[in-house]
Amino acid sequence: MNLPAYTVTRKPVKYTRIRVLPPDGRVAVTAPRHVSERDIARFVLEKRAWIVKHQERMASAPSLPEAEPVPEELRPVLYAKIGPLVEYWADRMGLVPPTYSVRRMRSRWGTCNTQRRHITLALELARRDDELLEYVIVHELTHLYERGHGPAFKAIMTRYLPEWPGLRARLNGR
Ligand SMILES: [Zn+2]
Repeated sequence: MNLPAYTVTRKPVKYTRIRVLPPDGRVAVTAPRHVSERDIARFVLEKRAWIVKHQERMASAPSLPEAEPVPEELRPVLYAKIGPLVEYWADRMGLVPPTYSVRRMRSRWGTCNTQRRHITLALELARRDDELLEYVIVHELTHLYERGHGPAFKAIMTRYLPEWPGLRARLNGR
């Protein structure tokens, strides 16, 4: 059995504790000063199944990958791309174009405030392909028709952007 990779931090704590950290499932161990490296390794090995389970769960969550922050210079570049795409897709989907903004977001690619008719897109999209940006825009526009992600939502997505499942998988790195 392989021992998962982990880092150890010594702290004045009573018990050894293991955490699996998002977004990539890094394993962090906090241990009292008197516990030996060997005991820590044994403890990690004992918890291996639990660690792997959490790492797998994290891998399937649609979160942004942790990477170098997107440079501010890309913000106007992204804005310039969003405008025409929102116009185009709102028109195709029979919607009044919503307002939009770009923000640094930690866990999502976009959000839609249906009451304010405002969509917010992650600055991190500046680093992804244009068609993935387009997918997120169509997704958020679809929320102006459907709040949740149920069958009705999917039907609208499929009608306008039939290749959406593949795009979503690419966006989330799968
Ligand atoms: Zn959504």
